[in-house]
Amino acid sequence: MEQELALPAVDDLDTGGHWQAARRHELAVRVCARCGRVLHMPKAYCHACGSWDTRWQVVAPVGRLYSWTTVLRQIHPAFPVPYTIVLVELAEAPAARLVGHLPGTPELSAGLPMVATFTDIGGISLPVWRPAQPGPVRPGPGTI
Ligand SMILES: [Zn+2]
Repeated sequence: MEQELALPAVDDLDTGGHWQAARRHELAVRVCARCGRVLHMPKAYCHACGSWDTRWQVVAPVGRLYSWTTVLRQIHPAFPVPYTIVLVELAEAPAARLVGHLPGTPELSAGLPMVATFTDIGGISLPVWRPAQPGPVRPGPGTI
């Protein structure tokens, strides 16, 4: 059976610029052109200064692990368990925390340096977060 893909909508008016940058294998966050605030979740309006003048800013695809959780019960065929959902705080835009997916149950710690690379799948490019220094992966429950 072919595995079903779970891909994001890349043509959304508020978030589309992030996916266009990803297509170039760049990581971009939306910022206010007037006050410089990072607008995350991305939106066309700055809640800090009221400006509608926003732009996409390319940032280094590095950050630190802010939080994570391991999923042991499968809820979607595209994500076989166990896997770990990570929340990465960007080094150049700490107000933005991006979600990533790691297979298995890697040994992680808060503040762990993370790096993103890009993978092309289904006609789009996705940032893929990984620990900058790969560590051991523990087998999940029920794994032999
Ligand atoms: Zn602003």
